[in-house]
Amino acid sequence: MSLLTGPMHHHLDGHKELTAHNPVKKLPEPDVVWIPLVNGNASCTPLVNVGDEVKIGTKIAERNDHFYLPLYSPVSGTVMAVEKKMTTAMKMADHLRIQNDHKGTVEKPFAPIDYEKATNEELLDFVKNAGMLGLGGAGFPTYVKFLKPENVDLFIVNGVECEPYLTADYKNMMENLELLKTGVLAFFKLSKAKKGCVSVKEDKHDLIAELKRIFEGTPIEIRTVPDIYPAGWERTLVLLLTGKRYDRLPIEAGCIVSNASTAIALGNALVNGMPITHKYVTVSGTGVNTPSTVIATVGTLAHDVVEACGGYSSDDCILCAGGPMMGRAIPNDQFVVALETNGLTTFKNEPIKTVACLRCGKCTEVCPNGLQPVRINAAEKIKDVETLKKLDVMSCIECGLCSYICPSKIDVTEGIRRAKKYLALTKK
Ligand code: SF4
Ligand code: SF4
Repeated sequence: MSLLTGPMHHHLDGHKELTAHNPVKKLPEPDVVWIPLVNGNASCTPLVNVGDEVKIGTKIAERNDHFYLPLYSPVSGTVMAVEKKMTTAMKMADHLRIQNDHKGTVEKPFAPIDYEKATNEELLDFVKNAGMLGLGGAGFPTYVKFLKPENVDLFIVNGVECEPYLTADYKNMMENLELLKTGVLAFFKLSKAKKGCVSVKEDKHDLIAELKRIFEGTPIEIRTVPDIYPAGWERTLVLLLTGKRYDRLPIEAGCIVSNASTAIALGNALVNGMPITHKYVTVSGTGVNTPSTVIATVGTLAHDVVEACGGYSSDDCILCAGGPMMGRAIPNDQFVVALETNGLTTFKNEPIKTVACLRCGKCTEVCPNGLQPVRINAAEKIKDVETLKKLDVMSCIECGLCSYICPSKIDVTEGIRRAKKYLALTKK
């Protein structure tokens, strides 16, 4: 029985103690950054040429479809090349390579504004031009959620961070409470919601106390959710907080949801007139010598971030962009920290003995979306498109629970990813 169809509550060992209580390290500025010219499935058009000088905050690219997203340079220096590199989504894409001159010259791309005095139209324009995007991993341009906010009952700031090992949102919130408050109140104004809340896990006692203090006297409540996975997934969170389900978007349940780090980024843009140039990134797992949450410049090589955390603990490690459940294992560490990157988790590559499926049905029991992973895997093996469609494979959120629970140690989620890719290709 799934979380969305019954009382399935799945507690995972979060291993957050590896990084939650260590100080956050600010990494040195890298000599070179690579900025992925991609946002979700869309590519971005460069607005600079090879040889151009840029400053921190220079607009260097824009998303090139019907959604708008500007990209800003996180360093000052020279555009050296457009190069193909693998992204955190394991796709080859163009990246702008920028040589850092380490002068730290800044060009504020927009002026700070007072969100209380600004009209909602001005505020929406600000969110759009500041390049705000879903920092919970989705990376979708944020302004789109606030284009026509009608009948919004609850604006939710998602600070749940349910993915094991990751503490980037937690550390970012603890260290930037004032910016969080500004961003949350600005988003709340834009949402025109009747109520607003910041939602975190019930075991984060220190954070809950700080949030209650900072939001005292504002319309924002602090709402806690149990320590279950995937409580931070939008559908689960909306269900936990409102008891409502929806088909496509949270607005169908009267909710707009935004990530806590996105709210902090908006607070920083409003107060300091600066876009997102740095990210809180958790580097954790058995594969790294000194698990830490760090502040890294956008565009820093994953290899350099791991090295700054003491390097790999073994010659044979698996590296995931993101957490172990929803992140992707990437075959090398030459990809970069992108705007939406929250974590790098790495594990010693220990041989896993896989046995045949026991038909135990556990993967179906845990699926928060009510899917039948074992049947999807069987249909994927024989490329049975009609059955894959019937089994609604495209609605899988790749939460990883079916692999986690499988007693036969089958990577069920990977089979489902393959099925989704195959189905997407057959539609073209
Ligand atoms: S990865 Fe997909 S199929 Fe597997 S449990 Fe999560 S949502 Fe369900
Ligand atoms: S959990 Fe694993 S063994 Fe059990 S039915 Fe699913 S794939 Fe088969």
